[in-house]
Amino acid sequence: MKNIKKIALIAHDSKKQEIVEWALKNKEILKNYELCGTGTTSKRISEATGLSVHGYLSGPLGGDQQIGAKVAEGDIDFVVFFCDPLSAQPHDPDVKALLRIANVYNVPIATNVATADYVISSMK
Ligand code: PGA
Repeated sequence: MKNIKKIALIAHDSKKQEIVEWALKNKEILKNYELCGTGTTSKRISEATGLSVHGYLSGPLGGDQQIGAKVAEGDIDFVVFFCDPLSAQPHDPDVKALLRIANVYNVPIATNVATADYVISSMK
């Protein structure tokens, strides 16, 4: 896997607690990376862990698209994106676009805790 330097963190509302717990569990690893995320997710993670997380706009207001653009520019090496599979999202086209652009550029994108655990455990 490509050398990971920058990680983007995104979680839908029902998954915010999960991503905060995941970040706390992996804080010692995450502190070695540059972190960014969508507005609310980045704020929640930053408050809980004390890690610096650059915040883009909130997902529904364009944050997913901003992160997608960074992926396209080669600026993001790993995306943690805990999606809610049980509710409709107003910004569903942006969600799909982010998944798509990560696949276009072969950037690892973890959409659940199990996958995020696998990827991060390979980064220790
Ligand atoms: P948020 O955006 O972190 O600003 O809530 C995440 C999303 O819903 O895509």
